[in-house]
Amino acid sequence: MSMDPRVADPPALTNPQGQRAADGESARAHTSDRADPVPRNNRLSLVVASIGSVWIIAHAFGILGDFASLTFPLLTIAAITATMTGVARYKPRVRWPWYSLAAGFTLCLVGGIARETLNSLGDLSTHRSLVPDLITIPGYLVICAGLVGFVRARHRDRATRIDTTLDAAVAALAALTVAWLFLMNPTLQLASAPLNVRLVIAAYAPISACLVAITAGLAFSTGGKHSAADQLRLAAMAFLLIGDVLFMLLETHTASIRPSLIDLPYALAYLAYTACALQPSMRLQTEPDVVAENSATVGRVIVLGLALAIPGMIAVSRPTTTEADRLVLGGIVFMLTAVAILRMVRAIRGHARSEARLVHQSEHDALTGLPNRRGAQKYLTTALEDAAGISTPVALLLCDIDRFKLINDSHGHGFGDEFLLTVATRLRRSIRPMDLVARIGGDEFLVIVQGIADPDDVLDLADRTRRSLSDPFVINGSEIASSVSIGVVIAQPDDPDVTAEGLIRDADTAVYQAKDAGRDAVVVFDRDMHDRVFQRLTLQRDLRHALQRDELSLHYQPIIDLPSGRVSGFEALLRWSHPTWGQVAPLSFIPVAEDTGLIVEIGAWVLEQACAQLVRWRREIPHGSRLEMSVNLSARQLRDPAMVDRLDAIVRAAELPRDALTLELTESSLMQNPALAAEHLGRLKELGVSLSIDDFGTGYSSLAYLRKFPVDHVKIDRAFVIGLESDDSSDETLIAAIVAMAGALGISTVAEGVEGPGQADRLERLRVDRAQGYLYSRPVEASMIPGVVARLESEARGRLSPVQERFTA
Ligand code: C2E
Ligand code: CA
Ligand code: CA
Repeated sequence: MSMDPRVADPPALTNPQGQRAADGESARAHTSDRADPVPRNNRLSLVVASIGSVWIIAHAFGILGDFASLTFPLLTIAAITATMTGVARYKPRVRWPWYSLAAGFTLCLVGGIARETLNSLGDLSTHRSLVPDLITIPGYLVICAGLVGFVRARHRDRATRIDTTLDAAVAALAALTVAWLFLMNPTLQLASAPLNVRLVIAAYAPISACLVAITAGLAFSTGGKHSAADQLRLAAMAFLLIGDVLFMLLETHTASIRPSLIDLPYALAYLAYTACALQPSMRLQTEPDVVAENSATVGRVIVLGLALAIPGMIAVSRPTTTEADRLVLGGIVFMLTAVAILRMVRAIRGHARSEARLVHQSEHDALTGLPNRRGAQKYLTTALEDAAGISTPVALLLCDIDRFKLINDSHGHGFGDEFLLTVATRLRRSIRPMDLVARIGGDEFLVIVQGIADPDDVLDLADRTRRSLSDPFVINGSEIASSVSIGVVIAQPDDPDVTAEGLIRDADTAVYQAKDAGRDAVVVFDRDMHDRVFQRLTLQRDLRHALQRDELSLHYQPIIDLPSGRVSGFEALLRWSHPTWGQVAPLSFIPVAEDTGLIVEIGAWVLEQACAQLVRWRREIPHGSRLEMSVNLSARQLRDPAMVDRLDAIVRAAELPRDALTLELTESSLMQNPALAAEHLGRLKELGVSLSIDDFGTGYSSLAYLRKFPVDHVKIDRAFVIGLESDDSSDETLIAAIVAMAGALGISTVAEGVEGPGQADRLERLRVDRAQGYLYSRPVEASMIPGVVARLESEARGRLSPVQERFTA
């Protein structure tokens, strides 16, 4: 559409819209960060971590003495306080996972104290109290729930949640293999211990595996970027896991470890968690994730690879196993493989989905969801191929909203968007299900119609569509009227020259014609139209240079005073000599000059030339001082606010008496806006120039209008003069009426287009004051005028008696 000549209705907002929508999205995604940035200060976290580390090291080396029993209560209090402080300070969007972790750690502490008091650690007898375990295990479950809370807060869409769960499952199963081999299987096989004790102790392993899994899932979900809080939480979970392993080894008497050392990993886990809750970045733990789905970070790939490889290798490399052992391991490996395959399939599908989405986006419009220009072209190409086989025509309706820019400018872009959405809905409703509506430009919609039985159906559809869009729109409570110009192309797909692109261009040409015909119209494209439009565009382009290249000139046609037959003046008529087309008729280039506004510049040039020319003739031609000049003025020039000043300057520079200049304005240009025209004419009149109404009788004005305009002359249109040759007396009656009315108002009359002596006689008898036409002279170059005037003057003298001649000389 780069050549779009429709200045009034330029295609407005294709991309800007998509752009705006995208901007809105990203703006929303960032607002929380921008409005309330993450505080950078992590001093508190550092101080607590340092003091805690010193205490824990002292604890491990046994230098705390009696104070050692305070270590875990203190750490628990620190964890709870840190949770409260962190939540209050950094205001995470979701809080319960934090409370959950704090509660879990507290339960674990209580369980630990109970274990100490009841001395149940390592007791594999029937007397062992299960109370500590029944407190600790729920504690772990509460921690698990908190971690799941982080995952959920981070991933708000279902697909990523499922993927993360699958990743976690892979990690859990891998951890379970190891746990099974080294912890669960040996524990369950302790023949000396009662079954309930064995089961409770073995239960720690899968719960730890779950912790590992969820932690791994969380670690993958940050897209490779870990904040300080991420790392600390990861560390806390790692320490917890180490503690659990050591603990189970102690329980099952597999290893003997100093009690102060078994405390170490747990103490570090508490401390890491405390420091994590005090980190400013703790808030990000529950912020929605912005990482693209399926982002395969290197870490994820390595961990998943190991998770898959290790269990398999272990299972294979342990030939001496029990039946149960093989069964469980086999089951785990089987599940692991199944989960991994599922994960892979999802990843591939996800990839395919995002690719399909990209294609969809490139072929659809963001605002309406309809196909865009590209999508429409693709569809049309296929439609043409399909239609070629069965050789039924394909039709295009290009609908361009009239004056959409005005709607957009006066009501705002949001309103414009709503309007376009409503247009899209109406269009979709007016077509058949098998047809396609696309939005191929800001306010341009394309309808592609297939399977046409009768071309008239297409015209019906086009007209229905036009009417459906000219019903008033009610948007956000305000009603606006609109209309649409529709260009129709009906293509025979058998024609090898037909392409989608070419058809859309043709439809565009037809729309251009519809606009030119006054909008709110349907125009069907034909070949000639293309040539006409092309020619008009070329003409427009060339006309811009015509003045500079000296291709414009003026011809002059004498105006005769009817009673005496003498020359009273001239009308200046514009001529364009085009380098390749030759003479271009004013009626084909002046409308273009008006549309483009070029007429203002050209008109000023005409005035300058004509005035200067008249000044010369008034000096050079014998008795020339009475000669006058008429210049045509277009409606556009009349509207130009600078017109009066410009005219004043031109007449002044030429040193021409003002009453020697007459401006001719066509009746139709005055009738476009009679009130405004009357005002402008008044201002021109004040300058002292004469005014004439051109083509009088054709512009539907009643004679009464003559009274409203301050004019000096009326120029009776050629159409009425032609009628004088025939016997029909109606034109004669009309001319008589004009003359009578004008005479009463003190306005003089001129008849144009006088070609025969008969017409001249009748006009004279009807008391028309002056005449102009081929009978006297065609419009001629300036250089020929003195000769023409001399001839006409001598003819006039021949008509007059010697006495009259003496008086008129
Ligand atoms: P118009 O103002 O009505 O000009 C009279 C037209 O009638 C001229 O056509 C002239 O050549 C033609 N004509 C004169 N005598 C006869 C005759 O006896 N028989 C016939 N059949 N035609 C005759 P032209 O020069 O082709 O101009 C056409 C129109 O272009 C003009 O109509 C006027 O509206 C416009 N025009 C010409 N020059 C200018 C200009 O400088 N500025 C503006 N705004 N319009 C101009
Ligand atoms: Ca004229
Ligand atoms: Ca005329």
